[in-house]
Amino acid sequence: MVREFQLMDAGQGAVTRALTFFGFVVAAALSLATIFAVLISEFGMVPADQTGFITTTILIATCVAAPMGALAAQNQYRVDRYHSTLHAMASTDPLTGLLNRRSFEKLANEEIERMKRSQHTASVALFDLDDFKQFNDEYGHAFGDRVLTEIARISHSELRGPFDRLGRWGGEEFVILMSNLSLEQAEGVCERLRRRIEAATMSYKTKTGQVTASFGIAPLTVSRGLAQSIEEADEMLYQAKNTGRNKVVCARQLRSVA
Ligand code: GH3
Ligand code: MG
Ligand code: MG
Repeated sequence: MVREFQLMDAGQGAVTRALTFFGFVVAAALSLATIFAVLISEFGMVPADQTGFITTTILIATCVAAPMGALAAQNQYRVDRYHSTLHAMASTDPLTGLLNRRSFEKLANEEIERMKRSQHTASVALFDLDDFKQFNDEYGHAFGDRVLTEIARISHSELRGPFDRLGRWGGEEFVILMSNLSLEQAEGVCERLRRRIEAATMSYKTKTGQVTASFGIAPLTVSRGLAQSIEEADEMLYQAKNTGRNKVVCARQLRSVA
């Protein structure tokens, strides 16, 4: 499965935090033990060998603090992992592993905030599998699900890692955010992806089948915002569907034709 959404706090981050937590608990216990030993010796309640007394006290404190710190750190690690798993579940589509609509919208709005500062351009594309209801009817829903995961994998491999964000907009419809690309370049990316989807042969158990997809692209700008850009991309997708499917329609093209 494609993992478009990165587990944010799992792995390295959680280990570092657990180790920090361990160090903190041990250091706190040792400090307390040292203060306690120094106070006792200051009040003259210690035998002649003060250094020996302080060393023994710190040693006992270490024996208590180390396992306590380890337990606390382990617990902290588990809580971190649990949180990151919940976060991933809330942000990704379970079938394809892509961003779900909510987390895609969040990322796109963050991109708009960056655009306010850097003035770079971006585009959004919506693409929808053609006649997918018929595909399901002919090959079965399970094969349909396999096709959706395969489309996610192909799209993920075609896009430019951290610059393009890919989400499942709903059903058999996907969304792409392309940063730092002109509309012409975005159109080129979608055209390449369209051809790859068209050329791919999907298989499930003993069956094989093929699908095509239609694309609609619109610019994403600070003034228009995400909702308006998506609406425009959706209109372009509608045009692609109405003029034969398996094609890419870009907002710019229609404007220049009109
Ligand atoms: P068009 O080319 O106009 O988009 O036609 P279409 O048949 O793809 O569109 P329509 O909206 O009529 O049907 C969408 C189909 O997508 C019907 C639905 O069963 C299928 N679909 C949506 N989500 C899933 C899913 O998660 N798994 C599977 N297997 N099919 C799905
Ligand atoms: Mg469809
Ligand atoms: Mg659809």
